[in-house]
Order: sequence, then structure tokens, then C-alpha cells
Amino acid sequence: MNGTITNIIRIARGKVMEHLPEMVFVLDANETIIDANAVAQKWLGKPLEQILGRDPIEVFREWPQLLQRFFFMEYHREEVELPSDPARTFEVISTPILNNDGNLEGRVILAYDITARKKLENQLTTANRELQNQLEENERLRAQLQEQAIRDPLTGVFNRRYFTEALESETARAARENIPFSLIILDVDHFKKVNDTYGHKCGDQVLKSLASFLLENTRRSDIVCRFGGEEFVVLMPDAAVVDAHDRAELFRKKFEVLLLACDDRQIHATFSAGVASFPTHAGSGEALLAAADDALYRSKAGGRNRVSIFEVGNSE
Ligand code: GH3
Ligand code: MG
Ligand code: MG
Repeated sequence: MNGTITNIIRIARGKVMEHLPEMVFVLDANETIIDANAVAQKWLGKPLEQILGRDPIEVFREWPQLLQRFFFMEYHREEVELPSDPARTFEVISTPILNNDGNLEGRVILAYDITARKKLENQLTTANRELQNQLEENERLRAQLQEQAIRDPLTGVFNRRYFTEALESETARAARENIPFSLIILDVDHFKKVNDTYGHKCGDQVLKSLASFLLENTRRSDIVCRFGGEEFVVLMPDAAVVDAHDRAELFRKKFEVLLLACDDRQIHATFSAGVASFPTHAGSGEALLAAADDALYRSKAGGRNRVSIFEVGNSE
């Protein structure tokens, strides 16, 4: 009875081994092949007689990579790429067979073709990478769009829309923290004459020069905006009226002597400015802007190329 069962198990195991999709090799303690299943024979292109009793190095002459790292090792699993054409990848598992004393009696080596799986994995990795690149590109474009929405395209400084929002939030912050801030509005003097005399392109160059000048001469926390046409606004957080006026006056003096590139020549330009401070001159952003504009008007009326501070009761 026992013998029959053992026999059935032996036959069943043999059948399973024959039908396994993996190549199976059994080696003895001397590393001689003592068994190989049908798939192994098919892959090697050799009948069992030419495999059994042979040295695997000789049997696998055409595929030395497949086995050479699997001798003299404990359990080992590795993906091996064979330089066939097209290249194929095998997963190879070597399991030692130990006797009760722990001595090596032989080993079973399983190898199966994972080329298709690797190809899919590689395609997935490539697709993931492309997706990642696309996401990064989308993020870059989104940031660029966001930036464009708040910048004046000619000069690169903030636009009026950004300024309006910044003015509102700065007013709220200043009120909350009980600190002052100031606005300077600047308008190029006789700018129409610059356009008429030197051309519109040259006028554009003057606007760019003024924008660069303001960026270079303001603080990091200041907000420089093109309010429209040849009019710029500088929002100065934490600056009270005297500080803002002094700085506006400094800008004016520096700018009037500056030589501005205008096609192949260099010209001078001046601006007039109006200064108004929160909360001294107004209690809201809108009123502060009107106050600064009022002061600008007085500078223009007073002869241009000058800076005026808003004065209550002086508005027209
Ligand atoms: P004032 O000293 O009183 O400010 O005189 P002005 O000539 O500077 O003032 P006005 O507002 O009469 O003229 C502004 C001119 O600015 C009119 C307009 O053609 C010109 N302008 C507005 N936007 C641009 C621009 O983007 N580029 C150029 N080149 N000119 C512009
Ligand atoms: Mg103007
Ligand atoms: Mg002007």
C-alpha cells in the first residue's frame, strides 16, 4: 500500500514536472545534470540523452550567463538577460537540495522566460515617465499662465489687476496691524512728445527703462505696477508719508539724469509723482489711490518733474 502511494506520488510529480512551463534541471552534488523536463529540452534543442550526465557548463555553452552564477551558491534568484536576438530575459531560481546532515546533495534549477513581462514593465515605466514629464510641463505652463495673468507684457512689472488686489490686501493688513503704508503714482512728463518726436517704439523703450529703474531702486517688499499707459504705481508697505516722499524724490532726481536708450540714440525723460499714505490721507485703498492721483495732478499743474504729497482740501 505504502509502496503504491509512493509510486503514485513519484509518477504524479514526474507528470507535473513534464508539464511545467518552466525549464527544470536537477543536478547532483557533482553538478552533473541528472534530470531535465520537456521544456528544458525544447529550449536547449537537445534530447534528454544529450543532457543527462553532462556538465551544465557544456550543455549551456550557448547560454553561459544562464547558469554560471548559480553554482556554488545557496538559494538564489536572479533575472538574467540572454544576448540572443531578440534578447530574452529569464528568471532563474536555484534551490540547493540538502540531506539531513545539511550537506549538499544536489540542486534544482528553474528558469522561465519573463521577456514579455519585462517588456510590459518597461513600457509601463516609460509611460509613467512620460506622464510625469507631461505633469511637470502642465505645472510649468500653469505657473507661466498664472504669472502672465498678473504681469504687464511690455515691462514685466505687475499689472493693474494685480495692483488692485495687492492694494486691498495691504490696506486690510495695515489696518489690522496698525501700521502705515504709502502709494506713489508716477506719470511720465510730456510722453506724447516722446512718441511724436522719436516714435512709438522709442516710447516703449522709455517705459521699459522706467520699469527697470523702479525695480532696481525699490525694496523687495515694494510692489511696482504699470497702472496703464505711461503711469506707474509703487506700493510701499510699512512706509509712512515722509519716508515715501523722500524715496519718490530720490527716484525723481536719479531718473531725470538717466540716459535712456531710444533706438540708436539716448534721451532724457522725467516724471511727476504723487504720494499718499494710509491711514494719514485715506482710510481705504480706493480713497488712497484717488489721493495719490490728486497729488500727482498737483505736480503736473505745478510744472512737472516734481513730487507732491496729498494735501487735504487741495483737491480739484
Ligand atoms: P503729461 O506730462 O501731462 O503727462 O503729458 P503726456 O503727454 O505724458 O500725457 P498724455 O496722457 O496726454 O499722453 C500719454 C501718451 O502715452 C498717450 C499715449 O499714446 C501714450 N501711450 C500710452 N500707452 C503707451 C504705450 O504702451 N507705448 C507708447 N509708446 N505710448 C503709450
Ligand atoms: Mg498719463
Ligand atoms: Mg504723462
